[in-house]
Amino acid sequence: MVLIQYPIYPDVPMPTAFLDRLGDIFNAMDREYTRAAEHYQFQCDGCMDNCCLTRFYHHTHLEFYYLRMGFENLGSRKKSEILLKAEKVCRETAKADEKEIPVRVMCPLNDDSLCSLYPYRPMICRMHGIPHELQKPGQNLIHGPGCGTFDDRCATKPYYKFDRTPFYLEMAKLENEFKQVAGLNGRIKMTIAEMIKSIGQGAERKAHSAWCMVQRTEGRGQSTEGRWLMPGLRCQPSRWSEKRPV
Ligand code: SF4
Repeated sequence: MVLIQYPIYPDVPMPTAFLDRLGDIFNAMDREYTRAAEHYQFQCDGCMDNCCLTRFYHHTHLEFYYLRMGFENLGSRKKSEILLKAEKVCRETAKADEKEIPVRVMCPLNDDSLCSLYPYRPMICRMHGIPHELQKPGQNLIHGPGCGTFDDRCATKPYYKFDRTPFYLEMAKLENEFKQVAGLNGRIKMTIAEMIKSIGQGAERKAHSAWCMVQRTEGRGQSTEGRWLMPGLRCQPSRWSEKRPV
């Protein structure tokens, strides 16, 4: 299986119909998670062992696009803030990997214990925390544990069968359908920070192309991100400035 690793550039149209269907699956997941949480009377209200510090990888193109849809709805200041954080997380993670040491860095979307893109978060962020079951085809049933806080608060309560299987199956089916239509193969392997960085690079590339078009026709121009480049400078996004050339 081909594994598409960072970066992928998202300057292609949003697969809206597929994202609507993914939204329905996410809603069903949230409902089942809420049922399980109510059964255990478990509430995630933040903890030292914060799951947003965990280096989760996400594997579907559609989750990437879903996150991108949410990111694009944010204001430009918030986007820049998140992008800076994502770049920092990627740098810190790469440094730790080089030294072969474990790393726990806060997700760039975590803003004072709240998720900046909560309605758009990927599957694992929706399902984490409560013990679950998963039946992969041709394999033994997997029993996954709850998080540390769950164990502290709810380990002695009667078991609730929280089965992730139908959601995994539906997501896999939808992702395969999307890949066929989009002519993609393989799966991605990206953290949230890598996704955000890639989305930012895609936006910058798109803005840069728009700027180049204006530059060609008018001699100088404004990018779609509101940044400027002095005429005569070689077109490179890193040379853009907030200041309009005179
Ligand atoms: S996407 Fe949101 S819920 Fe998921 S790790 Fe990041 S901040 Fe936490």
